[in-house]
Amino acid sequence: MSEGFLLVLSGPSGSGKDTVINQLLKRDSQIVCSVSMTTRAPRPGKQDGVNYFFVSKEQFEENIAREEMLEWAKYGENYYGTPKSPILQWIAEGKTVILNIEVQGAGKIKEKMPEVRTMFLMPPSVQVLRARLKGRGTESEEEIEKRIAIARYEISHAYDYDYIIVNNRLEDAVEGVLEVVNRNRAMLRGEAVNNSYLFE
Ligand code: 5GP
Repeated sequence: MSEGFLLVLSGPSGSGKDTVINQLLKRDSQIVCSVSMTTRAPRPGKQDGVNYFFVSKEQFEENIAREEMLEWAKYGENYYGTPKSPILQWIAEGKTVILNIEVQGAGKIKEKMPEVRTMFLMPPSVQVLRARLKGRGTESEEEIEKRIAIARYEISHAYDYDYIIVNNRLEDAVEGVLEVVNRNRAMLRGEAVNNSYLFE
């Protein structure tokens, strides 16, 4: 049986998801990350097709109508979504496919595909979150406060996820995710593993 699976990773903006994912991609060649589509404007220096496919609202709505999205959600004023076709291909190839998506999209995927694993990356505190968002320097004060409000809502959904990883020290968080990935691969290979910390 293929050990390919989908790992949905959510966490507030500023929780360090992108940094954790970059480390995972470097450390494990069987891990891949889906490139989402968004109507949000690119941040300076970000290339189309690398972090996101940047499209217009009309193009995004066309993709929804053509059923080319595995899931999509509105976050703030913008659409975000996961293009379907590469995901199914990667799973068949035995890859661990990471989807970096917010809580509404995560809920929709878990309903549609109950076999996916979901993980919430928890910031150590709201103060740390605000400091990280300010330090990034890419959002206005107003946008930061909007993101903090969304973060409080997202954190209230953390217990809907199969796993919660607290991102206090990057290295520990990355190790925690890799352990979960390896346990799930072993389970899919039919090995008996201690999955006592799976919330099932
Ligand atoms: P950002 O604007 O900071 O890049 O992303 C904002 C939020 O959108 C993040 O929580 C991110 O996880 C989420 N997001 C990114 N891509 C997708 C996607 O394809 N689907 C959904 N539902 N959320 C996404």
